[in-house]
Amino acid sequence: MRVAVISDIHSNLHALEAVLEAVDREQPDAIWCLGDIVGYGPRPDECCRIVEERAAICLAGNHDLGVRGDVDIDNFAPDAAAAALWTRGVLRDRANGFLGRLEPSAETDGAQLFHASPRDPVWEYILTDQAAAAALEATTAPLVLVGHSHVPLAVTVDEGELAGGHAPAGTEVSLGDNRWLLNPGSVGQPRDGDARAAWLLLDLDAGQASFRRVDYAIAETQAEIREAGLPAILGERLSSGA
Ligand code: ZN
Repeated sequence: MRVAVISDIHSNLHALEAVLEAVDREQPDAIWCLGDIVGYGPRPDECCRIVEERAAICLAGNHDLGVRGDVDIDNFAPDAAAAALWTRGVLRDRANGFLGRLEPSAETDGAQLFHASPRDPVWEYILTDQAAAAALEATTAPLVLVGHSHVPLAVTVDEGELAGGHAPAGTEVSLGDNRWLLNPGSVGQPRDGDARAAWLLLDLDAGQASFRRVDYAIAETQAEIREAGLPAILGERLSSGA
């Protein structure tokens, strides 16, 4: 089975379309989405519709829950809170219904999926070795998939030692018999210094993980953010991917 893993789309339709074009060229058996379909960006309805149609598994992220009203927007940074309120105002019924059905974690054959982390599926960022080790300790599946940090990651415990880390474009991981914690990175708002949209291709039979990046029309998303009246920084940061 081959699976495309996507996460943290954040209403960036142009990034999502570019990723799905690359995904479709690989013809995987399934698409799994680790959450944060909405928030920050200008095209929430379209992103919800596409993910609803395409993803076999889809989690709720903290931004999805914030828009839904299931987490308090006071927990968000000011720009994120402004975008969540804007999203609430424009989201149509179908997208609201879709977001309303999502959960922040899921389990499937050979993999445990969390938007953020096993300890806290909604909020905890896995950005340190300590957090990665704790995530592997708290789980049992061969593969643990997380999003939320917007930083692609491949971490394992090899002969008792934590190994791996940031997984930039082109990283190929042979999963072997080890357990792995993988983060595909972010489709719609990358934060690892590479502005291109990120996704992950898993070949579960061959035991291979491929970290991919794809160019998209950043300027078009930035123009839509300005037109929507969303905080300007949410567009500007897309140029640097930081
Ligand atoms: Zn996110």
